[in-house]
Amino acid sequence: MKFRKDFVTNSSSSSFVCDICGNVESGWDMSLQEAEMVECVNGHTICQDEMLSAPREVMLRLIQEEMQQSWSRFNGMTDTELNEKTDEELEEMMLERDDGYYSIPEECCPICQFIEYSNKDLAKYLEREYKVSRDEVFDKVKQLNKRRKKLYDSEYVTEVCSRFHLNPAEIVASLKDRFGTYRRFYDYIHKG
Ligand SMILES: [Zn+2]
Ligand SMILES: [Zn+2]
Repeated sequence: MKFRKDFVTNSSSSSFVCDICGNVESGWDMSLQEAEMVECVNGHTICQDEMLSAPREVMLRLIQEEMQQSWSRFNGMTDTELNEKTDEELEEMMLERDDGYYSIPEECCPICQFIEYSNKDLAKYLEREYKVSRDEVFDKVKQLNKRRKKLYDSEYVTEVCSRFHLNPAEIVASLKDRFGTYRRFYDYIHKG
């Protein structure tokens, strides 16, 4: 999750929130790289150290795709030179391609691989499967604290799981069998 707030000055304060552990990094004009986070092709923002290592052929494919572009900083590198790179060097190149945008493929994202989950996704999935209304859960939360303005996804997940005796880790493991790819899971939880 990424948000950015602009002020009258040219500087802006940015915040990055890890979709897995909830870690928040913020600062003036902070980049994803400075926050030590990466973003996957499906828009998940995660801490760099939570990233899975990509198969070598995936990293090579991504770097070679970028080498086709005239602006690529890897222009002039031969396939032989590329093949001699270590996995660590390839990973660095993969992250810094596209001018340091720090984007990673599905293979490197634990959420896309159904190893970890974001509460946002899981809340949407549970709402679809178990039809517990968010308003109802929110009313319960407000009974404990009247000042609460919004229901957190994590609270919704906890409530539905306890009501139906579900274990989030088991649900996430079953999603891989059921949907195969994150894209299909995403389409399922977001269809009208
Ligand atoms: Zn994290
Ligand atoms: Zn992802």
